[in-house]
Amino acid sequence: MKTLNVVVIGGGAAGFFGAIATAEAHPQARVVLLEAATDPLAKVRISGGGRCNVTHHCFDPALLVPHYPRGGKALRGAFSRFQPRDTVAWFETRGVKLKVEADGRMFPVTDDSETIINCLEGEARRLGVRVRSRAAVQSVQRQGVGFTVHLRAGEVLECDRILLATGSSLQGHRIAAALGHTIESPVPSLFTFTVPDGALRALAGVAVEPVDLKLTVVGGKPLIQSGPLLITHWGLSGPAVLKLSAWGARLLHDQRYRGELTINWLPDMSLEALREALQLMRQQTPKRAIATSSPVDLPRRLWRYLVARADLAETLTWANLPKAGLNRLVTELHQGHYALQGKGAFKDEFVTCGGVKLEEVDFKTLQSRRCPGLFLAGEILDIDGVTGGFNFQSAWTTGWLAGQSLGT
Ligand SMILES: Cc1cc2nc3c(=O)[nH]c(=O)nc-3n(C[C@H](O)[C@H](O)[C@H](O)COP(=O)(O)OP(=O)(O)OC[C@H]3O[C@@H](n4cnc5c(N)ncnc54)[C@H](O)[C@@H]3O)c2cc1C
Repeated sequence: MKTLNVVVIGGGAAGFFGAIATAEAHPQARVVLLEAATDPLAKVRISGGGRCNVTHHCFDPALLVPHYPRGGKALRGAFSRFQPRDTVAWFETRGVKLKVEADGRMFPVTDDSETIINCLEGEARRLGVRVRSRAAVQSVQRQGVGFTVHLRAGEVLECDRILLATGSSLQGHRIAAALGHTIESPVPSLFTFTVPDGALRALAGVAVEPVDLKLTVVGGKPLIQSGPLLITHWGLSGPAVLKLSAWGARLLHDQRYRGELTINWLPDMSLEALREALQLMRQQTPKRAIATSSPVDLPRRLWRYLVARADLAETLTWANLPKAGLNRLVTELHQGHYALQGKGAFKDEFVTCGGVKLEEVDFKTLQSRRCPGLFLAGEILDIDGVTGGFNFQSAWTTGWLAGQSLGT
């Protein structure tokens, strides 16, 4: 059997998974993995706060795809061949047990990303994948039916197939573009919101679960998300905000992260029930100050802040609450408006939306439609998921699928 030379460019989750899958499925393949950095798998190491949120406990492809603001449609078929259940089994058969947390995120039982790194590096070694670090690729050129790979250090390698798995790196985008691909411009996804409201920021650390959020940005339809919200030193964070940031990533980027956020702090309470609860306070505790006697289940500091936001004096009693004041309080609790002015970082997870246009890739094989012999996997594709393990899952899935076809 003729030896097939495969070069994997990029030693992240997708590159490692692709290299391992290639070596396993095609023993005749000689697989070399080129990584620019000194240590491969750098993002796996820092992921999930050092615990690595490997995947999500959602084993139905139809329910998985709505977690991808970009790429869900393309991933639908791919998930029918390799999905989170397969990821769990893949790691388990290699000695790494994953556990599920209450919100569906899955981590190694060790709570240590090194467990995942050791597993991937061990598998690559066992299968004879040659991992070369400090091997940045400068360019790739077509050479007959194969390729020449030009390293930044001057070395040139020849190969039959390439897996390009360079994540969000601009150099990777340049390589893909030079081989005929369109690059959707990269913009950040999964970020927190900057809200210029000192009194709100003073509540940093207060968390509310759940809230309903509506984001309105000029030029787009309003976006709606629910879930936990966290007040921070610069504005707002938490799962509900991160999901909104992912769905609104492009629009927000185009509008320089300016928009309006509407918060329903009490989504489980109807407007009527809320009005009733406030009216009851008027009757039952008329002499008490509104700011210090809340009828609803919200942190005390937040209630005080919302009362002030409704323009009600600190000492105002329930008995003296005018109708207009009650209406303002209801509005603050059910649909308070907050200006969004900029974005912060999200240190636990950060992804880039944009990358190689999905129509230019065959998702059965992950082979390029523009450049036969070139395969693509992971974040270099215009795919990104919300937080929760979905981004690694798309790296595992696309890497694994590419590996099945790379050696044929
Ligand atoms: C702080 C942080 C935490 C995260 N936590 C999670 C999490 O818990 N769960 C989750 O699902 N997602 C998480 N993510 C997202 C996840 O890390 C990425 O979606 C995933 O790493 C993408 O994998 P990849 O292999 O496509 O790209 P990468 O992991 O970025 O790997 C690409 C590799 O290619 C190399 N490279 C680039 N250019 C070249 C070149 N020219 N030559 C050679 N090598 C090159 C890079 O050095 C890099 O090692 C997190 C991201 C961050 C930043």
